[in-house]
Amino acid sequence: MRLDKLLSNMGFGSRKEVKILVKSKAVEVNGLVAKEVSMHVDTDADEVLVLGEKVVYAEFIYLMMNKPPGVISATEDKHDKTVIDILDPLAQHFKPFPVGRLDKDTEGLLILTNDGHLTHQLLSPKKHVPKLYFAVIEGIVTEDDVMKFKEGVTLEDGYFTKPGELTILSSGEISEIELSIMEGKFHQVKRMFASVGKKVTYLKRLRMGALQLDETLELGDYRHLTAEELEALQ
Ligand code: URA
Repeated sequence: MRLDKLLSNMGFGSRKEVKILVKSKAVEVNGLVAKEVSMHVDTDADEVLVLGEKVVYAEFIYLMMNKPPGVISATEDKHDKTVIDILDPLAQHFKPFPVGRLDKDTEGLLILTNDGHLTHQLLSPKKHVPKLYFAVIEGIVTEDDVMKFKEGVTLEDGYFTKPGELTILSSGEISEIELSIMEGKFHQVKRMFASVGKKVTYLKRLRMGALQLDETLELGDYRHLTAEELEALQ
C-alpha cells in the first residue's frame, strides 16, 4: 500500500496533509526517514513510525464505551450529542457505529465498531446473545415478577417477550435488580417492568455476550477491546 494511503486511512489527515507530514520528516519507515509519500509499504512487515509512535495498521476498530447518560447511541442526531461525537478524531476516522441502542438516559456497556459482520453476530435475534442490565426500580420487585419474566411477559403493544432471567439484589420501595435478556426491543427493560406495574429509574448495561463492562472506565470513556475480548465475542 502507498505510504500516503496507509497514513490517511489511519487518520493522519488527507493525502495533502500526509504529504506535509512526510516532508517535515515526521515519518520513518524501517528506521529511515520517509522521503516520498508514494513509497510502498507492506502493512504486515514494515515498521512505520509517526513522530516516533508506531502506526499499527488496522481496517477495523473495536471499542468498548461506558456510555454516559444524555448522549444518543446513533451516528448522528439533529439535537443531541451522539456517542460518535464524544470519540476522538482518530477513532471517528474509522467511521464506527454503535452495536445496538441504549436509551439516552441508559449508561454502561456499548460496543462501537465498523465491523458489520460482528455487529450482525451480536444483534441477530437468531444468535440469542444475552445482555445483562443492572437497574433501580421504583416499587417492590417480587418472586412473582421473577417467575413472570422467566415465562415471558406481554408488553403494552401485545409483544410477548422471550424469557428473561431476573435476579433481585435488594427489594423495597426502591429495588435493585439484574436482568438478562436475549432480545433488544425498543425500551425493552423499561417496558418489561412497566408490564408488571413498575418503573425503571436507573438502567446500566453490564454485559453483552462474553463482553463485560470494564468498570475502570469512567462514564464517557472508552478503550479498544483486547485481542482476548474480541475473540470471545466472535
Ligand atoms: N432496555 C431499555 O429499556 N433501555 C435500554 O437502553 C436498553 C434496554
